[in-house]
Amino acid sequence: MVNGGISFWFADDGLPVVREPLTGDASADVVIVGGGYTGLWTAYYLKKAAPSLRITVLEQKFCGYGASGRNGGWLYNGVAGRDRYAKLHGHEAAVRLQRAMNDTVDEVIRVAAEEGIEADIHKGGVLEVARTPAQLARLRAFHEHELAFGEKDRELYGARETAERIRVADAVAATWTPHGARLNPAKLVKGLAAAVEALGVTIHEATPVTEIRPKQAVTPYGTVRAPYVLRCTEGFTASLKGQRRTWLPMNSSMIATEPLSDAQWEAIGWAGRETLGDMAHAYMYAQRTADGRIALGGRGVPYRFGSRTDNDGRTQRETVVALRDILVAFFPALAGVRIAHAWSGVLGVPRDWCATVTLEGSTGLGWAGGYVGSGVATANLAARTLTDLVRLDSGEAGPTELTALPWAGHKVRKWEPEPLRWLGVQGMYATYRTADRREQLTHDARPSRLARIADRVAGRH
Ligand SMILES: Cc1cc2nc3c(=O)[nH]c(=O)nc-3n(C[C@H](O)[C@H](O)[C@H](O)COP(=O)(O)OP(=O)(O)OC[C@H]3O[C@@H](n4cnc5c(N)ncnc54)[C@H](O)[C@@H]3O)c2cc1C
Repeated sequence: MVNGGISFWFADDGLPVVREPLTGDASADVVIVGGGYTGLWTAYYLKKAAPSLRITVLEQKFCGYGASGRNGGWLYNGVAGRDRYAKLHGHEAAVRLQRAMNDTVDEVIRVAAEEGIEADIHKGGVLEVARTPAQLARLRAFHEHELAFGEKDRELYGARETAERIRVADAVAATWTPHGARLNPAKLVKGLAAAVEALGVTIHEATPVTEIRPKQAVTPYGTVRAPYVLRCTEGFTASLKGQRRTWLPMNSSMIATEPLSDAQWEAIGWAGRETLGDMAHAYMYAQRTADGRIALGGRGVPYRFGSRTDNDGRTQRETVVALRDILVAFFPALAGVRIAHAWSGVLGVPRDWCATVTLEGSTGLGWAGGYVGSGVATANLAARTLTDLVRLDSGEAGPTELTALPWAGHKVRKWEPEPLRWLGVQGMYATYRTADRREQLTHDARPSRLARIADRVAGRH
């Protein structure tokens, strides 16, 4: 089994040739820090809107090095913080955000097709299953809750209908939305970087930004000056000067099996290639890959003391074992399957678990992120929002539907200093795991008090 190597997606498709680093001071109209989906989509839409803009992307390693090249490939309509935005700005504002997210799934698919980005995209929707009475109660509540946010096309399945789609052991029900697609994350980010470059955006890789100041991105090789400096660094944000407690870097880990045999696929079903999730507190997410594997993820060791992030995506042995156990519990026919690759990456988690997009007119500093685990589609909507905010601030365009979304300009307090930060996150995940185990053993359908307490401690509700 390969462990690390950035991700299975990069190992399979090949690591990119790293672009030239910055070689001295430079200037631009917009400088973007971070070459993941957020940074690249922002460069894409800004350049499309105003082709004469001089845009420079600065990436510490190579485009897709972060979560954008390592994720589960769920391009779906979930957005971190929607329910809190409903409380803060009213239900209608949150519905607008949700509708924009539904459309974003199709927007990514549209641009990928237009730009000739072949990212193994298959729009089969999102299927989430319940395997215990408590999960069933949560699934029903979740289903109703999503309908209330305007998802008229969501469907609820019983055990038999679920099994017709996919045979997950003990599955008693499922909820399905059409607003989701599976994709190969590394192919998307590579293709996007190439498309952006072809439009005339300058990308410097192997160029770490050490500090962001108003109108300046500082690197060891020189400073890029621009009226707008946009921070798109998600789980790595804590390593920037002054940003240690802004977004907590949280790990998520994945495994990919060897390609399964026809007989194994026969036993499992999954012809619709929906992205697959469950209703456990420490939830799993999975996809059927284009080459017939299962790629499955979940929380590993969630958070490293002092907001440290990893190097090459290596993950702990216990995490690999835990993910393999989930795989086999879901699909007993895979008891003997070989795991080909394991890896991990970092998410960005704000103190209130709400994704945000902000541009400060006074300093020209902007940022987008804090997507928690839902960034593949969200980064596209965030990038379009950030684009519109820059164009509004520079007087190039007026307010738009996107600049009026409730996440624009949302402010959130910082995380606690260590060791409280570490203790809080470790405690939250230990509690989720205990709640899951208890629900499995007792078959108790009541919502777990333990999990509710963990949510509150972590600032989720
Ligand atoms: C294992 C895993 C599975 C996931 N699964 C899903 C999923 O299935 N669906 C979903 O919706 N979301 C998923 N996510 C979340 C999603 O991948 C992210 O939210 C999304 O990719 C964030 O994109 P980004 O561009 O904001 O951040 P990133 O992709 O992390 O990009 C940030 C970039 O900035 C660069 N950078 C950082 N600091 C600096 C600096 N100082 N100087 C220069 N460059 C810098 C990094 O090298 C990196 O390339 C998953 C995440 C992980 C880790």
